[in-house]
Amino acid sequence: MASNTSATRELLLGDEAVALGAIHGGISGAFAYPGTPATEIFEFVEAFKDWPVAARWSTNEKVAFETALGMSYAGKRALVSMKHVGLNVAADAFVNSGITGVNGGLVLAVADDPGMHSSQNEQDSRFFASFALVPCLEPADQQEAYDFTRAALDISERLALPVMLRLVTRLSHSRAVVETRESRAQNPLRPSEGRQWILLPSNARIGYRRLIEKQEEVQAALRELRCWRRYGPAKGRLGIIASGIAWNYLREEIPDEAALPPTLRVTGYPLAEEEMEKFLASVEEVLVLEEGYPLIEDRLRGFPARGRMKVHGRYDGTVPRTGELSPDSVHASLHRTGHPVREPEGPLAPRPPALCAGCAHGTMYEAMKSVLKDHAHARSFADIGCYTLGALPPYEAIHSCVDMGASISMAIGAARAGLHPAVAVIGDSTFMHSGMTPLVDAVLEDTPITVVILDNSTVGMTGGQHTAATGPDLVRVVRGLGVPEAHLRVVNPLPKERDAISKVLAEEIAHRGVSVIIAQRICIQEAKRRARDEKKGGE
Ligand code: SF4
Repeated sequence: MASNTSATRELLLGDEAVALGAIHGGISGAFAYPGTPATEIFEFVEAFKDWPVAARWSTNEKVAFETALGMSYAGKRALVSMKHVGLNVAADAFVNSGITGVNGGLVLAVADDPGMHSSQNEQDSRFFASFALVPCLEPADQQEAYDFTRAALDISERLALPVMLRLVTRLSHSRAVVETRESRAQNPLRPSEGRQWILLPSNARIGYRRLIEKQEEVQAALRELRCWRRYGPAKGRLGIIASGIAWNYLREEIPDEAALPPTLRVTGYPLAEEEMEKFLASVEEVLVLEEGYPLIEDRLRGFPARGRMKVHGRYDGTVPRTGELSPDSVHASLHRTGHPVREPEGPLAPRPPALCAGCAHGTMYEAMKSVLKDHAHARSFADIGCYTLGALPPYEAIHSCVDMGASISMAIGAARAGLHPAVAVIGDSTFMHSGMTPLVDAVLEDTPITVVILDNSTVGMTGGQHTAATGPDLVRVVRGLGVPEAHLRVVNPLPKERDAISKVLAEEIAHRGVSVIIAQRICIQEAKRRARDEKKGGE
């Protein structure tokens, strides 16, 4: 952990480099909801004690973004971080923040998960930035993660716009030495005076026009940051456009800079028309290497030079249409274009995920299977968390997992279609994130669903972060939402309790109205962490 304000060298994860860049860039607060691969950004800020930075997990990503926006409104700099699908939850606030603009610098660090290592899709956040007309920086390595975060705070404050910093799993979760710089002081309190924060239609129209007019300034700021850099000879048959981390994979394949064909390295969006047009005019074919969806390939269609050339990338199959890039896939893509390449190494064996041995979720799934097997149309709708692993053998106990909070909403829809029993399975943190609102719907209409809340006192899947309500607090929240006392049951999911839990489940399924069963038992990994911390504290 950095402990002084002068320049140092630190070995940091990409996520930690973002966090330290933001701290040194003068943030007064950091807000987030846990989600792999972004979790470590907030954790680093939370653990930072050298000077005060407000840091608290939010109940969901929308709350996190709005809290950061409020801090920016007050004139201070803020960092908000989340995983890519979290941005769907925060989208309302994010898109509107482009129209209100910001006061203190506001950076959204969003970590995408191409290849879906621990996510339900591999959506590309650069499209969200483009949609919101907000600048987006895409660092290629840990040093740029640090430098760009600081630069993004400056650009944000200068242009009065939020700035997105787009990361991907391999950058977030790999370490490299980062050279840090002297810290910048935090901003004083200076609340915004402008009326642009009131998004009445008359103000919003002005704000939207202002946002469009600012796009030239955005391009100038990105140009200053050298977001579109040329390498290799001025002309050639094959040109390469490599963005973000794809640049690193390209350099693994062609380590000698002098051996690169004409190459355009992209680290900022929206793309600069002038640089793109000049580059395309200098080559006969172009290979686009970008992590995620084919955003640059799509944008190339708008450039006149594109009409006379072959574009190789995700659309023509030169780069695999789905999944994460790797040094090997970049190698294969270069090979397909006829570019000379080195011999590739063999792939690593895949390692399928599984619930930890002895996890309480296993007991609940065993009980659910034993009860639901007697019902021909029984379906269990699950949510995002460790319990999703209940889809795999030996449990095979869940039938859906779509997005945060969807378990309860989908069970309601299925119940309204006449399906019975409809069981929703959700964790404590996910319930607080976005399970409460559909439960209110179920309560209002006394929909015949049974909601099983697996309360393990932590956000287990992302490594044990704070959960907004657990234990008696969670029971109070559920009671407060109007679940009838007779159908709010608490169980202890120990293996020896399995038959008793099955009985409770059978009773609540037989009840043709809403019921909630809360299974309270701490995550094994979290219990180990707490025991370790206690031991350390006692030494
Ligand atoms: S991390 Fe915790 S909740 Fe997740 S599978 Fe392991 S024991 Fe279960």
